[in-house]
Amino acid sequence: MKTLLSEEQLREGIRRLAESIHAHYRDKPLTIVGVLIGSIVLLADLIRLLNMPLRVDLVQARSYRSGTRPGPLVLNTDLLSDGIRDRDVLLVDDIFDTGHTLWELIPQIDELGPASLKCAVLLMKQGRCEVEMKPDFVGFEVPDAFVVGYGLDYRDRYRNLPYVAMLEPGEMQEIGDRG
Ligand code: 5GP
Ligand code: MG
Repeated sequence: MKTLLSEEQLREGIRRLAESIHAHYRDKPLTIVGVLIGSIVLLADLIRLLNMPLRVDLVQARSYRSGTRPGPLVLNTDLLSDGIRDRDVLLVDDIFDTGHTLWELIPQIDELGPASLKCAVLLMKQGRCEVEMKPDFVGFEVPDAFVVGYGLDYRDRYRNLPYVAMLEPGEMQEIGDRG
């Protein structure tokens, strides 16, 4: 496992991310919609840096259901409150890989009639985008590798690492063999 972003780098990057978000919305009330489960650690750190009126909501998106291979995308918006209509909404996810998760989520949230809708991600994988959009706010660009830590898991492991690391193919196999 190779560390990509240390705790210190993450702290600094999230501070910058919060600054850009605040600079954009100023002190307008914002609804942050976190995409479960990967965004929980980012969400907890980010909202504490946003000194503005804030509401937090959650949706669930699952695609990486067998190790590193994307399964069909399952979106669950049942957790959303009715606090979307006429609000400025910011979707927050852990990583933008092919982009399909946000690309499919955005029209579903849009149907709920937000005043505006943007998205922020901690990480953006280089050279992987398959959709015609880019996140509005990005913490860090990362190479095309499978990354874990700071909310991101591999088969339920590493989600609680305080830093972001990349798994080597051998490591993924090892854990896979143990089931
Ligand atoms: P996308 O739909 O953009 O291809 O993928 C987005 C989702 O896939 C992320 O929210 C995350 O849950 C998962 N994902 C994509 N790349 C990685 C990765 O390198 N590591 C982990 N742990 N999850 C990833
Ligand atoms: Mg996700």
